[in-house]
Amino acid sequence: MSAARLPPLPSIRDILKLYRLNAIKRLSQNFLLDQRLIDKIISKSGHLTGSQVLEVGPGPGGLTRSILKQVPKRLVVVEKDRRFKPTLDMLADSFGAINGQMDIIYDDITKINLENLFPMEEKRDWDDKNPDIYIIGNLPFNVSTPLIIKWLHAIAERRGPWAFGRTKMTLTFQKEVAERLVADVSHHQRCRLSVMAQTWTFPVLRFIIPGSAFVPKPDVDVGVVSFTPLVKPRTQHDFKFFEKITRHVFSFRQKYSIRCIETLFPLDCRKELGLMMYKLSDLDPKLRAFQLTVHDIDRLATAYKYLVEKHPEIGLYEYHASRHLLPLSNTRDIVIEDYVET
Ligand code: SAM
Repeated sequence: MSAARLPPLPSIRDILKLYRLNAIKRLSQNFLLDQRLIDKIISKSGHLTGSQVLEVGPGPGGLTRSILKQVPKRLVVVEKDRRFKPTLDMLADSFGAINGQMDIIYDDITKINLENLFPMEEKRDWDDKNPDIYIIGNLPFNVSTPLIIKWLHAIAERRGPWAFGRTKMTLTFQKEVAERLVADVSHHQRCRLSVMAQTWTFPVLRFIIPGSAFVPKPDVDVGVVSFTPLVKPRTQHDFKFFEKITRHVFSFRQKYSIRCIETLFPLDCRKELGLMMYKLSDLDPKLRAFQLTVHDIDRLATAYKYLVEKHPEIGLYEYHASRHLLPLSNTRDIVIEDYVET
């Protein structure tokens, strides 16, 4: 990697002391101060020199400095906590001093429109090589998991940063979630999140960072995962539709997957239509959910679509809604939890 020399800056540890930047527990802030590990994350994120980079949750700027050393054409950071303004301003000024451009947005990454952040000239065709746009973030776990689900949806629909082509991203997760994202068929960590991530991207678990490397130390270790969108997604089905089938497939871990698929249908026709799904998909009903490949789940989705087209009333049946009768405000949390808790 080619590296630039930024004007001398105080260490992140000194900055935290100087501006009294205590980590806020409510925002799950854990800072990474180990330069070797920071540089390792950045070196796994892509060829940043001359590219557009979006960093989410820069905090005091440890990763930000390492990104700037690679001299991107432009760095945009999105940070929710305005207490970091003096340190981020200092970095933007230092980068400006060597003719670089760093823009700072104080906002919630889950709420802003990311499509306007990048110039049109960076746009590539989907099946072309990846655009020179990279997304990097060491976010709190309670943000990174819902965010990856939201971004997988955007990848499927080629929206936001993926309107520019197959933009790569490198994000941190709680170690167990990172392992689930990459868990292959038959792996004990295989779950709905594995299938959804692997249907639209090629996720790679780069390395694990021990919790002890963070200040303050979280209770868990951290996995660094990079995602490259697939040229050809492993399904042609719509994201929400495929997600529904995958959710049902993983509704019981130890039972035959046909028992899970049956929950797609009302009680009176459950057995008959469940069996028909396996016949149409040419699959063994005794396979467990974690033994199904993405291709198998895609075939089940195609079979379900066929049945719903023949009998549209089936598509209106909602197993979970009728079972839990949750107040609407709670459903989002349950769905997200469901992704990690299999
Ligand atoms: N990147 C820094 C590092 O590695 O030391 C900070 C990491 S800390 C785990 C997560 C950072 O993300 C904090 O600075 C926090 O304020 C910020 N953050 C949390 N939720 C956010 C959100 N929804 N949008 C943008 N930033 C967020």
